[in-house]
Amino acid sequence: MTHRAVYAGSFDPFHLGHEDIVRRGLGLFEEVLVAVGTNPRKVYLFSAEERLAMARDALSGLARVEVEPFSGLVVDHARRRGATVLLRGLRLPSDFEFEHQMAVANRSLAPSIETVLLLAVPEYAFLSSTLIREIATNRGDVSRYVLPIVDRRLRERFPAS
Ligand code: ADP
Repeated sequence: MTHRAVYAGSFDPFHLGHEDIVRRGLGLFEEVLVAVGTNPRKVYLFSAEERLAMARDALSGLARVEVEPFSGLVVDHARRRGATVLLRGLRLPSDFEFEHQMAVANRSLAPSIETVLLLAVPEYAFLSSTLIREIATNRGDVSRYVLPIVDRRLRERFPAS
């Protein structure tokens, strides 16, 4: 049976931990749809268009991957796109509580859609978009955490003084 997976997140910005989950998802599923979400109650560093463009550029070399915007419930987006799996990454045990709650809620909303959690590789288990934003806004070097295209965008946004 072939499965199409939705990998949803804010991707503010897209980083190497995200890329690792996409690559590993491609080993498990026919297609990975990266869904760049916008939640009206959240404040983002980059606009939806910028987050989408960065993820697209970062993943442009990979076949069987699509990057698209979404808002609303992820299970509705998955249904619309014919996906049967919600792919998520789990960094640390502290992520588990939230991911568990989301997975149980999504299962209750859409019982035919499975959540699959992949454990972060140890070298990226500490990595988050929040950490990258914090370093970049303080003009620190984030080049080891993001693809060059994203590094360039961050340097444009926060030029060295
Ligand atoms: P959200 O706003 O949904 O938390 P993120 O962009 O922060 O969106 O994360 C999207 C997904 O990527 C989530 O499943 C998150 O757990 C996963 N993720 C984030 N950072 C990493 C990482 N370093 N390694 C593996 N997965 C990660």
